[in-house]
Amino acid sequence: MNFNVLKTSLPAEIVHKTRYAPTPSGYLHLGNLYSFILTATIARNTGASVLLRIDDMDRERYRPEYLQNIFETLRFFELPYQEGPKTEADFLQCWSQQHRLDSYTKALDELRQKGLLYACACTRTDLQKAGFQSGCIGNCSSSYSLDDPGLNWRYRTPEQSSFPVSMKDFIVRKRDGTPAYQLCSVVDDAQFGVNLVVRGVDLLESSIAQVALSHSLDNNTYAAAVHFHHPLITDQAGHKLSKSEGAESLHTLIKKGCTPSQLLTLLAQRCGINHPVSHWTDFTYSALTSIV
Ligand SMILES: [Zn+2]
Repeated sequence: MNFNVLKTSLPAEIVHKTRYAPTPSGYLHLGNLYSFILTATIARNTGASVLLRIDDMDRERYRPEYLQNIFETLRFFELPYQEGPKTEADFLQCWSQQHRLDSYTKALDELRQKGLLYACACTRTDLQKAGFQSGCIGNCSSSYSLDDPGLNWRYRTPEQSSFPVSMKDFIVRKRDGTPAYQLCSVVDDAQFGVNLVVRGVDLLESSIAQVALSHSLDNNTYAAAVHFHHPLITDQAGHKLSKSEGAESLHTLIKKGCTPSQLLTLLAQRCGINHPVSHWTDFTYSALTSIV
């Protein structure tokens, strides 16, 4: 398996389609905007099309205002995409992951038939107490059946020492029976024909996990996608940004009356660019990727 998924320069390979893949689990921040702009810039430079693919499988964290915030942000900054929902109503009617459950179930069935899944009763607290980052702390695979209710389904990850400990035997189906994020993401990107994935370097281990999962599924092309992991934008104190209603939330800044140009200039400053920016197309690939 090739784990060399970190790209440091513009992909030379031919890429056809990339995507914005936000999650409606919080208000977007400058880091999300940076990721969108970098994606749009690479698409513009390579001629790739852009899909808007919204991950809404996590129903506990989903809120309608966060969904609205995704569309509001893309419109406010005139960020283009050629495929995907145009409005919240269009999303709910045609594009929600809730409409794609059959595809996820099919992938889970295939993994199950191949003997790559086991049921696990260990909770997050159990793992923390045992000092585990991920995986099963006991012997659940021989104690439980996949037909037992209320258990997580874990995917047997490769044994290689290079495989990240944080993703060992990651969950593909949650105890409430819903498919988990990694599985949905791999199924969706492959089915939509995405072959360029642009995401933060904090998701590098997640990408390695997803590539492994893709290799386990027949006819899944996700593993062949070019992966580009970008550096992360931090707040003024140098901390990682998180989705919230805080000072760095785009929702808050837009509500306060900031213009697109003011916010793009703020983003530019965080990227070490010291001149005003009036439109996202003013950013160049090299300026976006040489963050100091
Ligand atoms: Zn377990």
